[in-house]
Order: sequence, then C-alpha cells, then structure tokens
Amino acid sequence: MKSHTQVVVIGGGVVGCSVLYHLTKAGWRDVVLVERDQLTSGSTWHAAGGFHTLNGDPNVAKLQGYTIGLYDELERISGQSCGLHRSGGLMLADTEERMEWLKMAHARARYLGLETSLMSAKEARQLFPLLEDKYFVGAMLDAADGNLDPAGTTHAYAKSARIAGAEIYLQNRVVELKATREGAWDVVTEKGTIRAEHVVNCGGLWAREVGRMVGIELPVLAMEHMYLVTEDMPEVIAFNQEKGRELPHAIDFKAEIYMRQEGKGMVLGTYEKACVPWQPKTTPWDFGTELLQPDLDRVAPSLEIGFRHFPAMAKAGIKRVINGPFTFSPDGNPLVGPVQGLKNFWCACAVMAGFSQGGGVGLALSQWMVDGDPGFDVWAMDIARFGEWASRPYTNEKVRENYSRRFSIRFPNEELPAARPQQTTALYDLMLSQGAVMGDSWGLETPLWFAPKGVAAKDVVSFHRSNDFPHVKAECLGVRNGVGVNEIANFAKYEFTGPGAEAFLSSLMTNRMPRTGRLILTPMLNEQGKLIGDFTIAKASPDRNGDERFMMWGSSQAQKYHMRWFERQLPADGSVKIRRYDMDLVGLSLAGPRSRAVLERLTDADVSNAAFKFLDHRAMDIANVPTVINRVTYTGDLGYEIWVRPEYLRRLYQEVKAAGRDFGIIDFGMRALLSLRLEKNFPTWFRELRPIYGPFEAGLDRFIDLAKNDFIGREAAVAEKASGGTLRRVSMVVDAADADVLGDEPIWHEGKVVGWVTSGGYAHFVDKSLAQGYVPKELAGELGPGEFEIEIIGERRGATIVPEPLFDPEGKRMRS
Ligand SMILES: Cc1cc2nc3c(=O)[nH]c(=O)nc-3n(C[C@H](O)[C@H](O)[C@H](O)COP(=O)(O)OP(=O)(O)OC[C@H]3O[C@@H](n4cnc5c(N)ncnc54)[C@H](O)[C@@H]3O)c2cc1C
Repeated sequence: MKSHTQVVVIGGGVVGCSVLYHLTKAGWRDVVLVERDQLTSGSTWHAAGGFHTLNGDPNVAKLQGYTIGLYDELERISGQSCGLHRSGGLMLADTEERMEWLKMAHARARYLGLETSLMSAKEARQLFPLLEDKYFVGAMLDAADGNLDPAGTTHAYAKSARIAGAEIYLQNRVVELKATREGAWDVVTEKGTIRAEHVVNCGGLWAREVGRMVGIELPVLAMEHMYLVTEDMPEVIAFNQEKGRELPHAIDFKAEIYMRQEGKGMVLGTYEKACVPWQPKTTPWDFGTELLQPDLDRVAPSLEIGFRHFPAMAKAGIKRVINGPFTFSPDGNPLVGPVQGLKNFWCACAVMAGFSQGGGVGLALSQWMVDGDPGFDVWAMDIARFGEWASRPYTNEKVRENYSRRFSIRFPNEELPAARPQQTTALYDLMLSQGAVMGDSWGLETPLWFAPKGVAAKDVVSFHRSNDFPHVKAECLGVRNGVGVNEIANFAKYEFTGPGAEAFLSSLMTNRMPRTGRLILTPMLNEQGKLIGDFTIAKASPDRNGDERFMMWGSSQAQKYHMRWFERQLPADGSVKIRRYDMDLVGLSLAGPRSRAVLERLTDADVSNAAFKFLDHRAMDIANVPTVINRVTYTGDLGYEIWVRPEYLRRLYQEVKAAGRDFGIIDFGMRALLSLRLEKNFPTWFRELRPIYGPFEAGLDRFIDLAKNDFIGREAAVAEKASGGTLRRVSMVVDAADADVLGDEPIWHEGKVVGWVTSGGYAHFVDKSLAQGYVPKELAGELGPGEFEIEIIGERRGATIVPEPLFDPEGKRMRS
C-alpha cells in the first residue's frame, strides 16, 4: 500500500470506481481507491441495473446520456463485459396530465438530442404486449433506456482505472481522516495511513459516516427498495421468439412500478408510498452483502394496480424478492463537488441511479479536481445547493417525500409540504393571516401570492395558468399603478471588510466597484469566462477600524456555492473578512410610483430624487428602526430595498403598511415580482444566468468593464467580446393560449430546434405572455414576427423577439 498519493477515493461501489477511472482519464495516475470490503459490496451489488436518460434537470439528463454512452468504451478498455441490454424504455401515461408531462419531456429531449417518440396506448401495446391498453392514454419511448450487469460494470470501471495506473486496496476500512497543517489529508485505514492531497467521499451507504469523520452531516439517507424477479413467463418467451428482441423497459406511473425483462421472466420494482428509511441515524460498519427482509404488504397497493394493468404478471411465479438499501439526497439528485469550508475534500454521494448517473458524476468530479471546474453545469447535483437547514430530520422527511413521489408529477406551481415550515421570519403568521400562499425558498417560507378575502389560499396545481392568475395580476397592477411591499428576506446578503476588501472584490467582479454610498450591479465569472454569479454591491461607510466595507446581495440558493468560491480566492494575508448574513439581515422591497411618498412618511431623511438617487445606498432610520436602504428593486420600477436586523422586521413592515394605507399599498409576492421582472427583460440567476453562458451571450455588456483592472475570467471575456460568443439571450412575446412557458421548452425556427427557453410566464402589466431563452446569435437579430415557435405542452406557438423591455424601455421609472 502506498504511503503518499495524490488522491484517495473512499468506496469501491460503482460511483467510486467511476471517479477513479475518470481521474486517470483526466491524467492523474497517482490515485488509489480504498474499499472496506469487496468492490460493489455497498448498494451496488443488488441494483436492478436499469439505466435511462430522462431527468427533471436537463443538465443532469446530459450527464446521464454521457454515462450510457460510456459503457462501450469501458468494455473496450477493460475487456470486461458490462452485460448491456439496450432495449429502450416506455413511459406509460394513465391520465391526460401525465400525457402532457410526457409531451413536455419529449419536447425537452429534442434540444438535448435524445431519441424519444410519443405514441398511443395501442401502439405501446405493440411494443409491450403485457400491458392492457385500456388503462393508458399514451406513452413515450426512450430509445436510450436499457439495463446492465451492476457487478460487471463496476469491475469494468475498476479494471480500466487499474490499466491506467490506479491502485485499489480491498478489505481495508478508512477509520479516520485528519487534516494536516499543509492542507493535505492523513487517511487512516485499518492497514496503515496514506497521506493524500485530496480525499473523495464515495462511501455510498456510509457516506454520512465518512462525512462525520471531517465534522460534517451530509443530507443523505438510505431507503429500503424492493423488486421482484419472476419465473420464466410464456408471454415473454413468445414475444422474444416472435419479434427476435427483448421487451423494452416500462414505467407505470399510476402503479408506481418499473419493469424490465430478466432472462425469460421479468423484474418488477416499486417506489411505494409507504416507504421505509434504512438506518436513519448511523449505518453499521459490519453491514455486509446481506439483503433486508422483504415486506410485500408494503408494496401490495402498487402490485394490485400493476397486476390489473399487466395481467400476465399476476399469473407469474415469483422467483426472488430483493430488498436492499440505497441512498438519496432531499431532492433525489446526487451530492457532488468540493465541500465548502474544507480543503480538498470532495463528495460524490447520494447517487440514487448509479448506472444512469455514475459516469457523468465521475467525469464532472474528476474535471473539477483536475481543472478546477466541472466542465458542465452541475448545479442540480452540486453539494452546495443545501444549506445548514438541511438537518438530519429534515433530510429524513424530504427523502421519504421524494421517494414516495418518485413517479408522481411535480407541477410547476406545486410546493411540496414535507419538513415545512423549516425557517420563518417574524412576518410569517401576519402573512398567513393576510392570505399568503407560501413557497419554500432555500429552506425559508416566502410569500408567493396573496389570496383576497373569500378566496382559498391554495394553489390548484397545473401545467396551465391556474387560480393564482387574477390575483398575481392584481398584485402586479397594484405595484405599477401605486405601491406594493414584498418580503425579500430570502435574498443572499454578505459583508466584505478589511483593508483588502475593494481590491479583492474588484479581482472577482466584472464591473468597477462603486463609490461610498453607491451601488453597482455586477456579474462574476470563472476562469473560463462563464457566469458564476450576479450581484448588487454597495460601498458602505467604513467600519469602526476605518477599514473598507462592502455589502453585497445575490441569489439565495447560491449562498454556499458562492461562499465556496470566495473562500477559494481569499488572500492568505487576512486582509479581507467575509460575513454571510443569512437570516441575520432581512428585508422588504417597497416598489411602485408612490413608493417615495410612503417612504417620506417614515423618515426625516431627505429621500427626494435629487438627494437619494437611483442606485444610492444609505444607512437610514426608517419607521424608527435602523436600516440600510438601496434605491433599486427587481421590479424595474421606482423602489427601495430596506434591510434590517430580524428583530426590527415586524415593526418596519407594520409601519410601512400604515404609512402606505392612504396610497392604497398592497402586498405582493414572489410570483408578481418574477412577472414584473419579465417585462423589464431582467434575467434571473440559475435560469438565464448559469455557468454555461458567457456575459455577452447573456446580454450583460453594460456590466462588464474590460478596462478597469484584471479580474478572473477577463481574458476569456475579452475573447468572447471579440468573437461575439455563439448564443444570445433573447426575450420573446409568445402567442400562448392558456399555458405559458415554464422553462426548458425548445425554440423552433424553420422546422428545426435552434434554442431553448430558460424561463417565462405571464407579464401582467403589459398583458403579454413572455419567454426568455437562448438562440444562436445569428438568429437573434433582425428576424421578423412569426420566425420562431416555442413548443408548449406539445403545441408549437408563434414567438417574436422583443429587443427592448416592454415596460419602460428607457428605465425612466427607476430613475425618476
Ligand atoms: C434494490 C435496488 C435496486 C436498484 N436498482 C437500480 C437500477 O436499476 N439502476 C440504477 O442506476 N441504480 C439502482 N440502484 C441504486 C444503485 O445501487 C446505487 O445508485 C449505487 O449502488 C450507488 O453506488 P455508490 O458507489 O454510490 O454506493 P455503494 O454501492 O454503497 O458503495 C459505497 C462503497 O463504499 C465503501 N465504503 C464506505 N465507507 C468506507 C470506508 N470508511 N472505508 C472504505 N470503504 C468504505 C462500501 O463498502 C461500499 O462498497 C438500486 C439499488 C437497490 C438497493
């Protein structure tokens, strides 16, 4: 066993072996894997081995596509068979709503380059004669689906890595991890200590326990999962003989079952509602390759429906029942990447679909380690997407909810109830009493819209416009025609202090830092010149030591993601200190043409347009409480963001409402805010602004100052400016009927898919359905009306680019 190495990968399941292989592929040869027992002896050995490309997040779907394409390469390199069966897979819709969902998945598959087709239930029966077509309304076939041999595949990864120089140590548990002073790790194993520059946690069922070795509690939980293997079935044998091929996979959403051929019989697995976590506190180290006790009563409701839908299955003898545990994160996607606050400690765990995702996870993580960047947009599986609020009990509730809903539709306006309310502000009960419908924003209850008296404060979930439509409209009109107040505690807020603060921020941001008392808007780029942040920065008055002080606001969801980046760039001399306020600073947005009139009643400070201009920042007493206030809002109207410590929020809100009464002040929620920003063409973080776009592609030109000083990504930004990049963010008016775009719809031009929608909805004040998205830059210019179409729930609707914001294109309202 080596005593020194560049990387120790902990865990020899399919994920650890993929990470090991991809590290060697990326050029690192001094890498080792340490496995407690034998390869596959966690959750991998008893997997059903199915794979598919579809995922709720298109970027994860791309990585799944990569994984599935990789198996031929592994077989070639290793000479080890992966036992591949590329049989295709059917998703069966039992309701019109599920069919709409399939139509949207099919549309998205088009721009991802996946091969899917829609069909009637009768056509589906031709491909899968075990089904009774009267129970279904249609289906989608995904040609890339299939299954493989889990052990063969894991060994193919391992063998390919060994051929490239990696070493694997079996029967050797990692018992302790010690950070060294030099920033490396002493990996203490049962057979000795290895000093490693990097450690990767691929501990699977024990990922939580490996995390605890470095003082973190990962949001991951194992669930029991059952599948049945039938005896040979005459119907399967007859199909194989007649067609000369295997049956495709099938998912029956209503019965919550998946099925595939195994030998001459079938495998049938369930994601049952009455699901059961496994070892919710601690996974015992001596858990071996044993199976859990099957509990067919638990899956009986699913089987009952399944046997009706597939009568041949009811007659089949059951050869074995497998019940084994595997891990999930609270949202079901993996936890991948470097852990904020720890040097060179990486995770690749909570991979619930190791044979669809393992390759992509290995590729992204290895590129991240070797090149400093995953090379893809991996936000949906970035470990940084969960905050401190994702505690162990929270994880337990969310994982159970996610497991039991694995085959349920998640509607775009659907807020899931488990583990809520987790965090609330002092306004929570007041908001509820005023009819607020709440949403979860990075673990915080945040008002989405307000139901007037007599209207149920509840969303009717739908892919179409829903019951909130007239009420969100009223909120938008209330702001644009008068004044509204909106809680914005969910924004991320930071403070940067110290003698080096300005130089530090200037080295990260594309825009010039503001003078004291002013704000700037600025993107942040990675080394490749891609967008990794979008912030509002204020230069505040100096702190008590006379040091520079900046305040910054950004996307709530990206707080850990951004902190990880700031900490990586922080100067070693201690000249900059960063504080993430989290819920220590909360706020209100006051917006609309009468907002100044309301503010004037709450302060004796001069807030006239001459004294308190657009993009000014002040410390000011408002409604008797100390605040910092920015003259800017995301509504694109005259307005203010007012920030206070949490203990002042309730008073501030009540005084704002009282002062606004004469001006007809209304409460507005996040949905109105997002509608108002649409008619201003404002982009949003993680939709229009993501690490796959350059700043000029995103149309952020006016926030990029290439002349100010060097900053991370400047060279790439200069090159992008010169070449113009390849894409352009555009805003489009859509000829929508009763459904607006949601995001991820394909954009068509001359019969081809040329781009995709990033977000959109109804812009109530201008009374138009709008979409934002990306198209090739050549198409973003002069095309006339009717040149584009956007596919909404299976129908192509006309779309026209609008080069200017439809509301106040010159920005007079914000500045007046
Ligand atoms: C019944 C069932 C059916 C499934 N069906 C499918 C399917 O059809 N398709 C699909 O894609 N996925 C399926 N899965 C899920 C799949 O098994 C997992 O996604 C996959 O196994 C995750 O692999 P892993 O490497 O992350 O974890 P694991 O397989 O759990 O591997 C972790 C490894 O780390 C080792 N380890 C942990 N701690 C230490 C330590 N301290 N020192 C040394 N070694 C350590 C363990 O011994 C273990 O070998 C199924 C799972 C089950 C249970």
